[in-house]
Order: sequence, then structure tokens, then C-alpha cells
Amino acid sequence: MNLCIANANILIDTAFRRGAVLIERGRIAAIAYGDNAQALATRAASTVDANGLALIPGFVNAHHHSYANALRGTENALPLELWALYTVAYGRNIDEKLLRLAILTGAAEMLRNGVTGVIDHSPPVRRGPASFAAHVESGMRVGFAPFFHDTHDHDLLGFKMPAALRAGVEGLGFPPADLVSDVFAQLAGANGAGRVRVLLGPNAPQRCSPRLLDLWAQLRERHGFGSHTHLLETRAQAIACARHWPDGIVVEMDRRGLLDDRLTVAHGVWLTPKERDLLAARGVTVAHNPASNLMLGSGILPAADLRQRGVRMALGSDSANTGGSADPFELMRLATMIGRVGSDWESWLDAETAFAMATTGGASAMGLRNEIGKIGTGRNADLVLIDISNTASTEPRCVETLVRHCGPAAVRATMVGGDWVYRDDKVLAFDEDTIRRDLTDAAAEFRERCAAELSIARDAHRVFDPQLRALLNA
Ligand SMILES: [Zn+2]
Repeated sequence: MNLCIANANILIDTAFRRGAVLIERGRIAAIAYGDNAQALATRAASTVDANGLALIPGFVNAHHHSYANALRGTENALPLELWALYTVAYGRNIDEKLLRLAILTGAAEMLRNGVTGVIDHSPPVRRGPASFAAHVESGMRVGFAPFFHDTHDHDLLGFKMPAALRAGVEGLGFPPADLVSDVFAQLAGANGAGRVRVLLGPNAPQRCSPRLLDLWAQLRERHGFGSHTHLLETRAQAIACARHWPDGIVVEMDRRGLLDDRLTVAHGVWLTPKERDLLAARGVTVAHNPASNLMLGSGILPAADLRQRGVRMALGSDSANTGGSADPFELMRLATMIGRVGSDWESWLDAETAFAMATTGGASAMGLRNEIGKIGTGRNADLVLIDISNTASTEPRCVETLVRHCGPAAVRATMVGGDWVYRDDKVLAFDEDTIRRDLTDAAAEFRERCAAELSIARDAHRVFDPQLRALLNA
């Protein structure tokens, strides 16, 4: 069974050309223009007329926490170290049923926004297998990185707290290393089901003991998985890491052989110039999260400097309760604007660079450099049809217009692996209406379940607040 998308303005690299794309067995089998495009359409079992529409590669959201789609509307006027107290409290009360609803709610939003690929950095490993199944159901291409860690931020940051509060905040504690190994062994057996590929998801290197860092390295070797982790997101983390690792946490990761082109790190706001060079030399991808970094006041990634040093870069929305909606258009615009104030305009990121971060950069982040991110023969048919007519521009067919003047409302259809997953204002991969209704129905009981832990989070907030200020003002 094959399909032709005809009369489309096809984005090839950075230029639009009118033509047709033939899709067979989930991949782009041929691209043709002019008379050849007509001939291509005759080879197809069915044809979609995309007259007036742009055909672009699907976007990749290179850093996302799907469970947080259940946390929309919760506390987000706090820096990460305090915000996390609440998010962890909620997160512990998300059961597998709610997790599935959160994953599919996020998937519906992303498919509507033209996102075909996502790295999901969650949930904790003990809920890994159930989440894997929900991702298969989503129809999306997923880098699935369930996280693991065994070091609390309050210990890393040197915060003091009464014993009773500590017990409350730490709850049941971390999953043992054996469980981490077992879950990844189980996931290795399912790897590749649907469009889901497993990644190792250490929460952050500084949140792993030396023993767990050893396990991370072992699991890489044993299963051949790539990795996804947070890195140097906030200034408090940078201060604490400098105290624990005098040569820097990035050098420590390199010493352990953890830096390579199968690793994506989220944020990297507080990387030193030397650390940026090291990531560039090792081929590591940095997922830039401009909305989240602004929302949490984490800082501004010097993205132009990273690019000049040759660091691979992608774009991520982070959690729904830090970055807001998973809207690649908003993220691309923020990425171009966030570093401009006070910097030399020679270095400013332009629209084409931001678009590349959201497509080819995301492909690198997912370990699919030659598979997705561009429209080309042989690549996966992860494609989006965009209505550019609304921009009413004299220059509608250029990446600049696409980035600056389009948004989710312009997305007409989304295809992953040759299957339409969103079209005519309807998600086709799963029953979106039921998912929305079930999530809303679950809300009251979920809030009730969280009440006790939220009370502990508020107590911890009061205790941590002056200590965080002292750390940052030291
Ligand atoms: Zn994150």
C-alpha cells in the first residue's frame, strides 16, 4: 500500500519546491517535481492533494516529562529547587492509569502541534513497562528514557532539615540498583515495539552515586542504549557540583566514558566554556529548553556560543508545569530571541538555525540522524502539512515565515512512519476525547491523594527557601 502527497510545497533543507512525495512502507520512496510529480502520483494507490499547503519534516521535542501532563496548572512560580518539592509530591501519587492518560494527553497536544518525535524523560523506572505500552499506543516516535537516581538534591546542595521532615520528603526512597537493571533488561526485550526506542534516563549525573554512575556505564554496554539526562540546569546545581567535583561534573562523566554521540543532555545552562568544548568534541547533543529556563528562572543558555563551538543542539519543551505547552513554534521563536538582549548581533540565532534544532537536531538527540528530521528519499515519513496561506506574506514559502508567523493552528495533518496520526482536527492514533474526559474525571481524586505529600512539600519549602538563598548569595 502506498500513498502520494501531491501538489505540496515541499521543504527540502531550507528551500520550498512544489512537487509530490511517494510514501511506501512508512518511508519516503520518491520525491518528484513538475511533470515527474504527475507521473509519481499515478504510481500511488491513493493521493492526497496538498495544494496550498507546505510539507515539512515533523518536529522533535527533545526533552519532555510526559507524567507532568497531569500537573498542568500546578505551582510554577518558583525556582527549580523549590518547584521540584511540589512536582515530586504530585509525581509520587501518579498511578499507572493516570500515567497513561498523561502520556496520551501530551501526545495529542504534540501531534496537533506538528511534533512527530519526542524524548520522554520519565517516569521512574518502576513504572517503565506500563509507560512503554502507553507510548506504543500514542503512535509517536519516542525515545523512552525512564529515569533513575539515588541522591537527593537536598544532600547535594547541603541543606539541613529536621529528621521528621527528611523522612517525609524522602518517602519510600529510590529504587534499588537491581530493580533498575531488571527494568532495563525487561525493556530491552520490548525495544523497538511500535515506534518506541529505549534510552537510559539517569535523572542527572549529580543525582547518581558513584555506584549508580557505574551501573549507567554498564547498562550502556550491555544493551547498547543511548542516554538522556539533565545537566547543569540551575546556578545552585553548578555551585554544588563545583564543590563535589573540583574538575567539574562533565569531566567526571568523560572520565567514566559517558560522553558520546549517543548522549543528549537537557539544559546545560551553566556549562563552562571548557565543558561546552568537551561536549562538542564528544558529539553530545544539548537539548535547549528556553521556555522552561525562563519559567523557572534557571538562566539563559548561551546557545550561540555553544553552536560556534560545534555543539549539536536540539529543542525541548520540558515539563508541562515548567515549559507550558509543547509548542515547537513558540520554542523556536524563544530560542532565536532569548539570547539576543545585550549580545553581539553577529552571533544571533536565526530562524533557520532554530528550525534545524527542532528537526535535524532533534533527530540527533533521538539517535536517528539519518532516519528523521529531513524530507529525503529513504527517510521515515514523519511529516507535517502546514497551511501557510494564513500568513498572507509576500514571502510565504521560506523558513523565516514558517518560524515567525506560523503556529499550531496552521498544522493541518501529522504523519508518523507513513500513518496519519492527526488530520482534519482529529487525532487518529487513539481516542483523544476519551483520554481528555478520563484525565479530567481523575483530577479530584488525584488532588485528594496528593494532599498529605503536598503538606510535607510546603513544610520543606519553608525550610529550604532561606538555605537556597544563602547558597546563591554565598
Ligand atoms: Zn527536565
